[in-house]
Amino acid sequence: MGALRVALIAALALVGAQALVSDPTAPYGAGAGASLVTTAASSDVWSGRLESKPGYGTYMCYAKRLYGDETPSLDADVIRRVALDGPEAVPAAGKVPTAAEIAAWAAGKFNVSAEELVPEELSAAVPSNDWVDDRGVRHVRLIQYSKGWDATVELGSVIVHLLGDDAVLVTGGIIPDLESRSPDDVGVSSSGGISDREATAIALRAALSTIPDAPARLVSRLRAAAAKPSAKNLVAASAAPRTARVVHCSKGGDCRAAFKQVVFLPATTTTKPQELHVYVAAANGAVVQKENLLRTATEDRKPAKAPKADVRAAHDEGASGGAGQWMSLGRGHSLYSGEVPLNTAQAESKANGGPYQLTDLIHNTETYDMRNKDDTYDGTIETLLRDKDNQWGDGSPKDRQSAAVDAHYGASTTLTYYKEVHGRNGVDGRGATMRSRVHLSKAYDNAYWNDNRMTYGDGSRSPRELSSSCKGFPPMVTLDIAAHEMAHGVTEYTSGLVYEHSSGGINEALSDIMAQCVLDYAHEQGHPRGPDYLVGSQLFQGNCTRRFLRSMISPTADSNRSSACWHRKFDLTTSETHSGSDMWCKVDVHWSSGVANRAFWLMAKGFNTTCNDGSKPAAIGIKNACSVFYRSTYAYLSRTGDYYELRAASGRAASDLFGEGSPEVAAVSKAWDVVGVPRAPYPIVDAPPCDAAFATKPEAC
Ligand SMILES: [Zn+2]
Repeated sequence: MGALRVALIAALALVGAQALVSDPTAPYGAGAGASLVTTAASSDVWSGRLESKPGYGTYMCYAKRLYGDETPSLDADVIRRVALDGPEAVPAAGKVPTAAEIAAWAAGKFNVSAEELVPEELSAAVPSNDWVDDRGVRHVRLIQYSKGWDATVELGSVIVHLLGDDAVLVTGGIIPDLESRSPDDVGVSSSGGISDREATAIALRAALSTIPDAPARLVSRLRAAAAKPSAKNLVAASAAPRTARVVHCSKGGDCRAAFKQVVFLPATTTTKPQELHVYVAAANGAVVQKENLLRTATEDRKPAKAPKADVRAAHDEGASGGAGQWMSLGRGHSLYSGEVPLNTAQAESKANGGPYQLTDLIHNTETYDMRNKDDTYDGTIETLLRDKDNQWGDGSPKDRQSAAVDAHYGASTTLTYYKEVHGRNGVDGRGATMRSRVHLSKAYDNAYWNDNRMTYGDGSRSPRELSSSCKGFPPMVTLDIAAHEMAHGVTEYTSGLVYEHSSGGINEALSDIMAQCVLDYAHEQGHPRGPDYLVGSQLFQGNCTRRFLRSMISPTADSNRSSACWHRKFDLTTSETHSGSDMWCKVDVHWSSGVANRAFWLMAKGFNTTCNDGSKPAAIGIKNACSVFYRSTYAYLSRTGDYYELRAASGRAASDLFGEGSPEVAAVSKAWDVVGVPRAPYPIVDAPPCDAAFATKPEAC
């Protein structure tokens, strides 16, 4: 019976994939046993429900009477990408093409004028916008520019990769026919429409409206910043110090000049923590998008009732680190990693709590206690952990230091991995100070990364039943979650993948993948667990039905929510505007990550088998697979990278590392075939049929 069920699932998955190849314009689910929901009662009311299909995971579908039976437009149609047939020489007046010559060549490839694609200004995200990496490949970043709107286009990011004067890969893409996409808005230049001050006020009011029970202090700070948007007031309100003018395009293809403001909002009794990205139309001040893009470990759960406090009193406040401190080595008794060495610092002053502090002077990280308060993002809540004898925690949550031991050890171990294996200096590549913060809020079942800080909840599981209960989560400070959060930081400072749609799923997958790489490294240094390709497996120690947050071997094993197979639905989206181009379905980024997670597992482990045709593709091992994915985000992927782009980037990375035509390059390509990722950008004519059940029947390769 079990085998029959597996076979049925595989057959259904194949039907879906083949239908996709023959009719790329068909809405998702057509002819494959799943149909789109159309439950809207009126044209103004949104409604939706979770839908799923074996192999393809779960997605939230919305319907609106406005659309009738129209096929929604897709991200793939909105962002134009190009594929090269082979290395292509870039014309140059001198010996080596300049960035401007490369931009002009790329503009021709995208069929736009030379002034519409220009070298990008230096950003903090990458080593440089024109740099040569350790394998001799040059990477030149370009940005789409709209003369009519006098602004750069947020999603119009292109990177040209060259060996010598030959372009070998182009990643990213542009928004074609830009100004015809929003006729009411053409001609709004920097002098027309609302001012940036007005836009800031509108954005902050919109942010405030998302938290009806905002604490009084936050309300007054946001109002002060709205009234007078100085950098000081904005930072005090946990907002970006500047409101940027950009061309904003919804994934549906509506484009307009807009002001962008990012605001961090704490959790309240009714809302979760948010990194809210607000876009305000320059023409008329309308809020065109308002989206929470906080990078977390797992999808958000319903707030649970807080368990009774069973912890020691919070540490007293003391002076923070700085001058007059030196390195010391402490011992920690962690919740998940046993007894571990800790890089600590000894301070000269006799601050409250003792002379030792959780400061790693080698990796420039510090660990703080959030004292079970909600995040204010301004550094006023947390206190640096201190100790009298440099012996930290007792291995149980009764001691408030134990979770801090895990977080501190996780940060040091992850940074050691990046340094030793990839030569990377810190999350940002420049060794900037990074904070870990534990004991966020009460019963918070997640962890997140923002602004060079990792923040961990205690989970909603009762401290007395940590290893026996299966309800909620225990403290979210396992080594793989620490590494997952920090990998979000590395992604932010390299490819900068946008945290929604396909690029968001790939962003999530890179965090899951690098966490396994860190586990592999740490295991060789004595960590109790090695890579098991099960995300968060240490959170489930009792006799639980659920054994992990996500399975990289079989992504659909998490209640069939995550995807084992690629599908275009990853780029369908809803948005908050009610214009004619809103979308129908949305996939959580922790679910669309399944495709890359499974490809990674296949590359690392999955091919040690003989196929029906007698061939025997070899896996490349976890260390090589880690290098391929790290190099993909470090050197190749663009902000809008989709699964096609990841396939191309990882193939190129494998060629750089192991040689053109090497078995490693073949194994990488084979893995993408199994999960059904197309070999060329949209329009899709070459998507291999996905094998959703490869994990359970490898002979089918
Ligand atoms: Zn994450």
